[in-house]
Amino acid sequence: MSKTKIIATLGPAVSNKEKIIALINAGVNIFRLNIAHGTVEEHKAYMDLAKKVAKEMDATVGIMLDIKGPELRISTARKRFAKPGEELTIGHGGDLELNREEAYPAIKPNAKVLIHDGDIEITINKVDNKLAYGKVVRGGIIAPHMGVNIPSAHIPIPYIQERDLQFINAMKNVDFIAASFVRSAEDIIALRKELEKINCDSKIIAKIENWEGVRNVVDILEVSDGIMVARGDLGTEIPLQELPAVQKELVKKAIEHGKPSIIATQILESMIRVPHPTRAEVSDIANAILDGADALMLSGETAIGKYPEEAVHILATVSESAEELVTHRNLEELKGTISECVSNAAVLLAKEVKADAILVLTRTGKTARMISRHRVSTPIIAATYSDKVLREMSIYWGVTGFLVNSFKYADNAVKSAIEVAERKGLVKKGDVLVVAGGEPSGVPGTTNFVWVQLVGELIARGQGFGTQKVEGKACNSPRNCKILVIDEAPEDIALEEAQGIIIKSQIYNPKLLRALAAQGRAIIAGTGDVSIPEEDITIDPIRGLIWK
Ligand code: PGA
Ligand code: MN
Repeated sequence: MSKTKIIATLGPAVSNKEKIIALINAGVNIFRLNIAHGTVEEHKAYMDLAKKVAKEMDATVGIMLDIKGPELRISTARKRFAKPGEELTIGHGGDLELNREEAYPAIKPNAKVLIHDGDIEITINKVDNKLAYGKVVRGGIIAPHMGVNIPSAHIPIPYIQERDLQFINAMKNVDFIAASFVRSAEDIIALRKELEKINCDSKIIAKIENWEGVRNVVDILEVSDGIMVARGDLGTEIPLQELPAVQKELVKKAIEHGKPSIIATQILESMIRVPHPTRAEVSDIANAILDGADALMLSGETAIGKYPEEAVHILATVSESAEELVTHRNLEELKGTISECVSNAAVLLAKEVKADAILVLTRTGKTARMISRHRVSTPIIAATYSDKVLREMSIYWGVTGFLVNSFKYADNAVKSAIEVAERKGLVKKGDVLVVAGGEPSGVPGTTNFVWVQLVGELIARGQGFGTQKVEGKACNSPRNCKILVIDEAPEDIALEEAQGIIIKSQIYNPKLLRALAAQGRAIIAGTGDVSIPEEDITIDPIRGLIWK
């Protein structure tokens, strides 16, 4: 499973149960509903199916509703072909009409009007009080509903759109609302107010896809729950060659704010038609992960593509490989609140003790988010008692959430969380965990404790020799024995066949034991006279510990 989260858009190509199962098995964490196409009923059916299948599979899958905001579209009734060099009028009663009248004044002489992610380009020569007169620079088919961009223009349209509200009302229990064409923090605030009115507390992901969104991203990050670098529209709204730098900057700002970021559009575009990706796509995925993205999103690849399952599989495989190159972020720029400092400490401690996992107890998901942004290679497992929070955490890089019963006091909560994590195969006996969370007596919403916790019952400690843990049955006879328990140190290196050796005596020859360890054995010496049960135990020579 990749640490980078995978978002897949639902659509006709994946509209049955088998396809949804295949996508979840291939690694999808969040399903997206793109309301640019389809009716409320169709999207509701997609959502219900995805939720039902996830439940049957006992899989954690979030739902993201992508609303369109003040997006401009062609509203002309019929499809037409625009020839390069052809003269066209835009405006009420012209050759091309837009879905929003308010956009017409923004079409000024020398402006560019771009259609369908810039496939078609029209330059405006002059305008009168009725129409804008333009010339086709790049031609192609223009069809109703195609997206329109007027780069650098400000279009005074209210953020909240009637059609968006209809979808939100019908599906208000989605985990994320992806808000298209956010221009400023005010747009997000307006949306939050609408959501509040209908008691909808979905997380809001601001889609950054025009120059205003880029310019205002810091304020937008303050009031939203994450951002999406929506490269389709963004690449037409700003000069295309600036896109890579803007992507890096937006992702960096998101990490600084402790908010997740998503990279979207043309991730595996070629796989809409063919079952293998281009080299450039593979490199782009790796670079997005190195930039620090939490999640990558597939659009047409899964919604209408010929190879949806393969696309998710490729994305997961390429991500896993790229994640090996991800390095721990510099902590200095990430200090501030108590939560941030404690999260930093947890990450540092996990590195120092070479923890097998960081266990987070989180009510709101915040601690998981704060730890995730450091991009440590240590797995982050996050226990929560809210299934809503569980799904919300499906966007955070490197976080595997799981559900526990409500936690009251930290030490009890840690014990029961570890039991659940063990049952789920997330941790095992002999693991060293760093645990972080918020003690209820502390400030609500604040991460205020961190400690080291061993999984299993510690039965002895001593001086360790070797580099690998060994698990197996302990016994006293040197034959067919995985972990041999002896009172006195051996005198000959060839003597022992066991993979693990426990020597009770405090008197031993370290040179000989190092030589035994060099053969790949794990040894713990000088435990003293403790009783080692003849059952499955784990010995950890690095830390000199023995567990039951
Ligand atoms: P869209 O957003 O697919 O809703 O247009 C993504 C983008 O613009 O890249
Ligand atoms: Mn877009």
